[in-house]
Amino acid sequence: VIAPVVVVHGGAGQVPEASWSGHRQGCEAAARAGLTVLEAGGSALDAVEAAVRVLEDDERFNAGTGACLTEDGRLELDAAIMEGTGLRGGAVAALPPFRNPVAIARAALEDVKHLLYAAEGAAAFARRAGFSPAPADALITDAARARLAEVLRGERGPGWAGGTVGAVACDARGRLAAATSTGGMIAKRAGRVGDTPILGAGTYADDEAAAASATGHGEAAIRIGLTRLACELVRGGLSAQAAADAAIARFGARVGGAGGLILVDPRGEVGIAWNTATMGHAVACSGRPVVSGIAAPAPR
Ligand code: ASP
Repeated sequence: VIAPVVVVHGGAGQVPEASWSGHRQGCEAAARAGLTVLEAGGSALDAVEAAVRVLEDDERFNAGTGACLTEDGRLELDAAIMEGTGLRGGAVAALPPFRNPVAIARAALEDVKHLLYAAEGAAAFARRAGFSPAPADALITDAARARLAEVLRGERGPGWAGGTVGAVACDARGRLAAATSTGGMIAKRAGRVGDTPILGAGTYADDEAAAASATGHGEAAIRIGLTRLACELVRGGLSAQAAADAAIARFGARVGGAGGLILVDPRGEVGIAWNTATMGHAVACSGRPVVSGIAAPAPR
């Protein structure tokens, strides 16, 4: 029997030191929420959805409430979820404001007819599935407005400084799932879709390999198929940590990618790697205290 495990990340970037403990606490709470679901008999899929919802609701992170804004000051949200037993997935891209995009991705997975919905069509699917749109501006924080203004004035780059969120889980039977949710890049153009909702780029799970959730420069992650790459390295025989390290090394070397990923294999072994200054993360494993980190040791 495998000890159930949930790993979460709170985005790759450069979180200032004053915010490190808050980011770690947010990640710990989310990982614990996911593990609680597994320990109550829920699936890995239920666990990653629960963990990501906690982070979407936490305005410190760039997903759901507090997500970053497009160049014209709107929210366009990306999210995906995938399970590794039947390789089923669901995703939304450029979704107008809804509080928990990962739950809508889950509804798409369960609905089966289509996998990925975009923009107004994603909103229509969400309403049909019983979700209510968030009131205008309800999910937009002062911090997100301030960050957009700084980027538009050229005072900072378009990365959120750490904030996309993701989770991977392995249940006691070695079944895997992954989920990721984001507002994307600050001041992105309308219609820009990143890696997050693209299975194999930002999110992937296969019980015969591993489950992974990525963060960082989305265009680069799509070009290299980052999470699929990491999972295939596990399938090829690397340990979870070696696969995470190798995937991030190739991401940097081959497409100049800056970012990170979390990974779990069907034995519950965990890999965590990033090449940015920070990537908040936490690991909750049955029978052990939750552990978290954000800065060192990068690079590993
Ligand atoms: N990967 C996300 C995107 O490109 C952003 C991030 O992880 O910070 O949309």
